Amino acid sequence: MILRAPGADKGVGGVEGELGIGADGAAGDQVLQVGEQRQAGGEGGQSMEGSADDAGAEEERETRPEDLGVKREVEKKPNTLLALLRPRQRSRNVEDNARRVGAAKRGKMVCGVEDIQGISIGNVSGKGACGVQDAVRISSVAGVSLSTHAVMDCTTARALNAWVAQAARPAIGTLGGGLSELRVAAHYVCRTRNNQRGAKLSEHGRGHAIDISGFKLRNGQELSVLRDWSGNHAKVMRAMHKAACGPFGTVLGPNADRFHRDHFHLDTARYRAGTYCR
Ligand SMILES: [Zn+2]
Repeated sequence: MILRAPGADKGVGGVEGELGIGADGAAGDQVLQVGEQRQAGGEGGQSMEGSADDAGAEEERETRPEDLGVKREVEKKPNTLLALLRPRQRSRNVEDNARRVGAAKRGKMVCGVEDIQGISIGNVSGKGACGVQDAVRISSVAGVSLSTHAVMDCTTARALNAWVAQAARPAIGTLGGGLSELRVAAHYVCRTRNNQRGAKLSEHGRGHAIDISGFKLRNGQELSVLRDWSGNHAKVMRAMHKAACGPFGTVLGPNADRFHRDHFHLDTARYRAGTYCR
């Protein structure tokens, strides 16, 4: 994990604003620490900021012939991220943005499934029983991007991919031009169930769960669990909720309890009684 290619994982880390880590030339452990801090700080609204320059740097490194020289490469490696701050780089923002979109579309396959794109981040450690073995940070599944790049294990990533490909995308169909993005309300976070004191550890604390609060369409419109569960798109929302039961062992939605009025909780925990879907 520590030995992964510098241009690879750091590039994707930059998508989530982790340029600082790359600049330190950090080993995997440091990456994970910061990842946890981000989790603790909140689960929503991660943006794509900070990725444009990163993508530009990769592109430049690929295209400049002198980079093929060993000496040049050695000089360049530690300075890659510092180079991003040069005015010459900033002036290329428009071009870089185009490249960033292209890079995001290409992505990187993880969990052995081409439709699951993201990066492998190894073992994530957390307090007590929290943590994720062989974790991945997912940017898209089945061609549908995630609003926040979400940390989970591969079992959960595969379940998410299957649900989006076989249920969410077909349920939405051509509505608004089709499904383009999942609104991620929570992913890996070390907490108790429903944040209740004294409750059992949430499956979120093991990287087994993801909460989805909305479905963004290609025309910019967004279906939200809160608004549309009983609204105009109730049929679509309920079809997606129902079909999640199977790929996921536990599925909770607005009918489950007051904590799930505004999102679907999907997790891969299995109980003796089989699936639990409400
Ligand atoms: Zn949840």
